[in-house]
Amino acid sequence: MELQRPLPTPMTPEAMPYWDGLREGKLMLPQCNDCGKAHFFPRIICPHCHSRNVGWIQASGKGKLYSFEIAYRSLNPNFKIEPPYILAMVELEEGPRIMSNLINIEPDPAVIKCDMPVEVVFEKQTDEVTISLFQPAS
Ligand SMILES: [Zn+2]
Repeated sequence: MELQRPLPTPMTPEAMPYWDGLREGKLMLPQCNDCGKAHFFPRIICPHCHSRNVGWIQASGKGKLYSFEIAYRSLNPNFKIEPPYILAMVELEEGPRIMSNLINIEPDPAVIKCDMPVEVVFEKQTDEVTISLFQPAS
């Protein structure tokens, strides 16, 4: 099967729990053991308090649409999803914002609303890589 989008590579060690989680249908987030705040993207130092004492939590997968853009053409030739499609910044319940695509909704600004509740969808790309997309919450 031809891939529809470029896959993330290389997968850095500090992000492996994230990718391992997606393969198992879990959205994992790094969370600081000192200040208690979650963050995204994964990194070895907490961006809130600069602690290196960072662990992982399983996120609920629920959040709200913080911002979006409808793409009418793809600028990356490796991105083969038929436009229009929706680029979405989702604010997770746990706090961090994550860039993704919003799916299972018309790419129409009349029906997409900021702050609308969304939930994660796991889409397997290869045996190694599953990605997180979002859809309107049921
Ligand atoms: Zn912290």
